[in-house]
Amino acid sequence: MLRLLNEKINEMPNKPALYWNNQTISFKEVGEEVTKWMDYLATSLPSTEQTIGLMSQNSDEMYYVILALWSLEKDILFLNTHLSQHELLFQLQDAKVAFVVSENKFHHKLDAISHIVPLDGTLRTSRMKITPLVDERQLTSIMYTSGTTGRPKGVVQRFTNHQASVKAAQINMGLTADDCWACAVPLFHISGLSIILRQLITGCSISLYPKFDADQLTADIISKRVTIASVVTYMLEKMIEKFPTETNYPTTFKTYLLGGGPIAKDTLIICRDLKIPVIQSYGMTETCSQVVALSANDALTKIGASGVPLYGMSLRIVDEHNQLLPASQTGEIQLKGPQVISHYLNETASHLAKWTHDGWFKTGDLGYLDEEGYLFVISRLSELIISGGENIYPPEVESILKQHPAITEVAVIGEVDIKWGQIPVAYAVVNQPITLEALQLFTTKQLAKYKVPKKLYLCKNLPKTASGKLAKHRLLTNEREVFIHHDDTK
Ligand code: ATP
Ligand code: MG
Repeated sequence: MLRLLNEKINEMPNKPALYWNNQTISFKEVGEEVTKWMDYLATSLPSTEQTIGLMSQNSDEMYYVILALWSLEKDILFLNTHLSQHELLFQLQDAKVAFVVSENKFHHKLDAISHIVPLDGTLRTSRMKITPLVDERQLTSIMYTSGTTGRPKGVVQRFTNHQASVKAAQINMGLTADDCWACAVPLFHISGLSIILRQLITGCSISLYPKFDADQLTADIISKRVTIASVVTYMLEKMIEKFPTETNYPTTFKTYLLGGGPIAKDTLIICRDLKIPVIQSYGMTETCSQVVALSANDALTKIGASGVPLYGMSLRIVDEHNQLLPASQTGEIQLKGPQVISHYLNETASHLAKWTHDGWFKTGDLGYLDEEGYLFVISRLSELIISGGENIYPPEVESILKQHPAITEVAVIGEVDIKWGQIPVAYAVVNQPITLEALQLFTTKQLAKYKVPKKLYLCKNLPKTASGKLAKHRLLTNEREVFIHHDDTK
């Protein structure tokens, strides 16, 4: 068994470790469950297999399996349940993984491409056994990036990376064993998995949910069980909508940890008025969770900022020659610190090129630091459009276009143009007919002329990654034709 888990079982046996489906499971009971799963997995998996795939939605069993696999000194490849068979095949082959512990409902995607160890309805023995203690320093998780900018990269997260991330959370959020962290984000994603690491290190409780349910989370916050909750923007918006207006957030509730993308100013104002504590954050799979964060106190004076680097993290903004840029100038965000992974799986030349010769990790994100050292994330470097020598940052244009009532979804990318080098063009899903001219007219008051989209492609839908992010690079290839509506306004 993992030494850290064993430590919690000895130090706080009866303390709730997990809240799941109306059950409260103590650390001692977690130890018993993990031991049963270790038995089952040790007999189901060949000892020669070092890395084991795991494909499941959040469940108590998934939680036990993660702890059991690490206790058996296996590395875990976390598979996003929304991946297609084709994408799964790539990840399994790339990571050389032959065995996957999987929920029944995903077997049809996996049976032709891997050996499956079923996760449901497994026969289990009882009674806790003595198992050898395993040093957590061997603990490794592998997760592929979202694939927003191209082929997903296999990220090798070591315990030391996770440990540094937990330390930063302890300092930034005052995380202690008395906290209970709500996990309604997927455990196969770093936002969810990092909660298990925080528990292993600090002994905090976890309230785990099969999927996000605003009513349930609201009830668990009001009942004072949950003290911290990880959310993405749409979850926070739903929580604001559902939270009873006559009820204040209990003083036991410390904060929402908001990640994954920028938050709308209106939402921030509502949070301030309703006294809803939110910490916005910036991070990525390669940094094992957030590395820059903005506290609720700063949220409104620093609208749009992602915050300041957390404990242990160095951040710099550089130009294309890796030269430092002064405050307020936009360049690539580069990071250095123990949270950042040291390498990708199966390193290729393009993987290696993600680090500078002196060890800075090139995030591929563009941003600037203001005079006080707060980070503003602007766009992805790969999405930057240069038109007639002017920089255009697609998120800025998209946020304006989204305000048009006809627009349901929109992506702005650069198209090659003989005169300007590149021109901005919009791909949009609409809920009523709209012409390019009408859209241009709508934006001219708010955008400089060179930023206004010169073409509009109406789409049936826009390409997304398994994590639900817009995959714009797919609009740059022949694949774009699949998404365009045939009555498009060119
Ligand atoms: P890939 O690396 O395969 O292209 P990805 O970068 O989308 O995929 P993730 O690791 O899931 O994969 O996402 C991290 C990225 O999400 C960051 O590099 C950044 O572009 C974006 N992001 C995260 N937090 C924020 C934030 N607060 N504001 C703006 N963008 C953010
Ligand atoms: Mg990335």
